Amino acid sequence: MALSNEQYDALMRQYNHKQARNNQIVSYRTDEVYSAIPALSQLDEEVSKVSISSITAIFEGQDIAEAAANSKRKLAALKEKRAAMLEAAGFPADYLEPPYDCPDCKDTGFINGKRCHCFKQAAINIVYKQSNISTILSKENFDRFNLNVYDDNYFEGNSDVSARATAQIALERAQNFVQNFKTNGGNLLLLGQTGCGKTFLSNCIAKALLDQGVSVIYFTAFELFKVFEEQTFKKNSSVEELNDQIFDCDLLIIDDLGTEFQNSFTTARLFQCLNERLLQNKSTIISTNLSFEDMRDTYSERITSRVFSYYEAIKLIGEDIRIKKVINK
Ligand SMILES: [Zn+2]
Repeated sequence: MALSNEQYDALMRQYNHKQARNNQIVSYRTDEVYSAIPALSQLDEEVSKVSISSITAIFEGQDIAEAAANSKRKLAALKEKRAAMLEAAGFPADYLEPPYDCPDCKDTGFINGKRCHCFKQAAINIVYKQSNISTILSKENFDRFNLNVYDDNYFEGNSDVSARATAQIALERAQNFVQNFKTNGGNLLLLGQTGCGKTFLSNCIAKALLDQGVSVIYFTAFELFKVFEEQTFKKNSSVEELNDQIFDCDLLIIDDLGTEFQNSFTTARLFQCLNERLLQNKSTIISTNLSFEDMRDTYSERITSRVFSYYEAIKLIGEDIRIKKVINK
């Protein structure tokens, strides 16, 4: 991926800030704890003595494996004692652990020299300026999904499945998708009229997966097609980075397909994008209020048959305005 130098530096500065913050918090808390539990500083001295003694033991001719096992055992016992002392004085057992935003890479951005998932998502956020996404997702997540906003007496056509029952099924499928995402991946097609909660549901999925460290890009179809156009007419590192990310992210969400301005060029790019992601086993969620026939007329037979055969369809129905009001509160 080609972040510009400035973007890369800005990102690394964020990681440096996090590490500095963690060190500061640990050092502040250490002072606090030492003055509350003086015995703890002695215990910490013992910890460093044990570490040093295992090295001296090796110099004195002791077997390396035996020395290591010995010190490991002693350190574990001391660690346990330390946690107990902290808790007895009313501190959480992990009070002196650095408060990492990402425990996986310990806020370094890298694991074994490779970019951590948090780094990938941060790069996406920089290029796509998704910084507001966390605010939206704090309001739109599975905990806030309220089935009661769907009318249990609302039916569509000849169906005897109410809007609420339909939403219940949609919710379960969305949760299954999230649960099996890391093993199965998969693609979703969210169908339904404007305002019946498709965006809300895709945000619920995005939030749950972001929390699992999955990289997610969210676009309205309008924005995505704009990027497709810019890629052709503007060449700069930011556009290229975004292009890579569209192909590379674990989950691409395209909201409201059918509301953008299409032409044969952008439609071809859409096909290329969806097809490439299928071939790479990368997941995509598309939401649309188009029917199968609308899709075929608007795009091509190729796109429509691809989408309908490789995507699991989830439907939402309902009287839009009421639901929209409650959901958007
Ligand atoms: Zn990380």
